[in-house]
Amino acid sequence: MSTAKSKKAKSNREKSSVSGGGTLVAVRAELAACSSPDAQIFVTLLESGNIAAARTENKATRERFGDAYPSMGKKTSPFFAAHKGDSWPTAEELRDMLLKDYRDIYDETEEGNDGEDVVHVHDADREECRDGGREKRAAVQEKTSRQRDAVQLLTNITSPTYTTRNLILSIPSPLLEESFGVAKEQGGHLLSSSDLSCTILPCNTYLRLQHFNEGTTVSTVLSGSIIHIIWPPTEGNLALLSQAYETYVVSCDPVAMDISQHLEGGIAMVQRPGEALRVSPFCPVLTLTTATTVLATYTTVPASSFYSILTRLPFLTHWWATELDSFLKRAAFGTALMACLVRIMDCEFETYTVKTVRQELDTPGPFFDLVKGWDGVKKGVLEILSKEQKAALQKKWQGLLIRSIGKNCLMCGHVCHTKSKEMPKHFMEAHWL
Ligand SMILES: [Zn+2]
Repeated sequence: MSTAKSKKAKSNREKSSVSGGGTLVAVRAELAACSSPDAQIFVTLLESGNIAAARTENKATRERFGDAYPSMGKKTSPFFAAHKGDSWPTAEELRDMLLKDYRDIYDETEEGNDGEDVVHVHDADREECRDGGREKRAAVQEKTSRQRDAVQLLTNITSPTYTTRNLILSIPSPLLEESFGVAKEQGGHLLSSSDLSCTILPCNTYLRLQHFNEGTTVSTVLSGSIIHIIWPPTEGNLALLSQAYETYVVSCDPVAMDISQHLEGGIAMVQRPGEALRVSPFCPVLTLTTATTVLATYTTVPASSFYSILTRLPFLTHWWATELDSFLKRAAFGTALMACLVRIMDCEFETYTVKTVRQELDTPGPFFDLVKGWDGVKKGVLEILSKEQKAALQKKWQGLLIRSIGKNCLMCGHVCHTKSKEMPKHFMEAHWL
């Protein structure tokens, strides 16, 4: 008999499952065959004894990740339902499709911005200092030179050992999405879901320590092979990573990011064609490709994860400082953040409306988390919002607290006999900065 409980247990097992590439034997064999000098960094970490296999059943290792334990396998892939894992595009098909997508982007934007908004060429090594006027701005190259490099990389998708320094290409791929029946996670519980984008990495691309973004990332290897070491986003790990970002901003030395030996609870895996890796927000990660690799990636942000994102805004502030256009990235994040706050405060993800919430707010959900946890995250939120956004949010909170039924403040229970008169003042004194 299949009960709801057993179904849930089964689904949890599938969610936390990791395929054959999640053993240390598999990772070591992949490293032994790898010609990159950076492979030694991974070998040393494994030899330290602080890195577990992703397939580990060790309770302490799994508990450090909490609900964020990464899963890897063919069933996790958005391509699986359509292809059952056995009819993946060949490297030649991928090359032709992505070259066409790339050329279409440039054709469409020929008289505009040359596609910079949708095509991203990254330096893999953070070798360029990104701090204000001192940076060399490697990403700002001659348009023709950039296009030539990108086309050469795309053409070499069929060459597993193709290497070129400091070039990673990310492009949207409408053709892949149309032709290969992508089934991404969807639903009313999501604050956002990104389009599918393809990332092409040459063989032996080493990505220094960084973190996954604030969404849940699902990336499928369509061609090639990648080794990852992923750490849980514990308070200690994110504090170390924040410090490293801070040091990097001052020193402009990428060596500042070499702190992975100090992180706790890492797990290693090798991801192969057809396999998707699902990783929760903010996990620190080290990556090395052992062949020319094409990844198809999308990101979702479930409403249930919103509050935990708010608790990590100070960490994001450290990271933005290391990025090109940090001011613009921060402003764009602030706009998206404001839109999400409004949706949560409008009870879009709840079974009730603001008006029907009694003063005894006890239904778990994104609204509950935000109302009860607002005082703990308000500083981080208000530091990111613009003056206008802050004014709008203040008005929104005050209106919401006045509209809710009962005489008590939803946040702290304080009694206001005439809410419309007393609540705005109480809010500013108790729940604002
Ligand atoms: Zn209150």
